[in-house]
Amino acid sequence: EYYARIERSINYRLNRAGFPWRKTLEEFDFSFQPDLNEKLIRNLARLDFLDSATNLLFVGPPGTGKTHLSIALGIKACEKRKRVMFYSAQELMERLVMMKIGGMIGRELGTLGRLDLLIIDELGYMKLNRDGGLLLFHLVCRRYERGSIILTTNRPFEEWGEIFEDEVVATAILDRLLHHSYVFNITGESYR
Ligand code: ADP
Ligand code: MG
Repeated sequence: EYYARIERSINYRLNRAGFPWRKTLEEFDFSFQPDLNEKLIRNLARLDFLDSATNLLFVGPPGTGKTHLSIALGIKACEKRKRVMFYSAQELMERLVMMKIGGMIGRELGTLGRLDLLIIDELGYMKLNRDGGLLLFHLVCRRYERGSIILTTNRPFEEWGEIFEDEVVATAILDRLLHHSYVFNITGESYR
């Protein structure tokens, strides 16, 4: 009965998290990305970074496993019965804009702020304007030193000003994201 209850709770969290597909850390072939710090990733999979509200940023070209790694770590967090949400950057921004228009942005930021782990996938494919950047800035402030964000992007940080069409907003977001963080620059080949 006890174990069935735990399993139900894990399944609930996995379904709730909204992963687009599920792949585990065990399925990740580190030999294909020799420059990636495998030991550090395996260490992070013990999830201590959630307690210190440390962020993880995966930066690199398409197909290098950034989404795979963030889903894999998200699954580990669900297994430890943490509250996790996975959003593509586009999905998240559309949601925030909608909430703003509907006058519900305060509540939404509260909800997103209370998660144990927020995953924002593929920032940079879509251009956001300054208003989008400000919404993201508010979200990042909400979670700053309170809860972890895993973020993946195809754009190096120097180019973030172009994503938000505003250097100041980009710098403000990056300052807070990077203050307590691990950055993984993935430079290897596409796995596809
Ligand atoms: P990215 O998010 O960097 O564009 P993905 O994480 O979507 O890349 O990876 C593309 C596909 O290749 C996925 O199906 C993923 O599971 C697989 N993949 C990428 N890197 C690896 C790896 N090192 N080992 C196993 N599968 C990988
Ligand atoms: Mg991806």
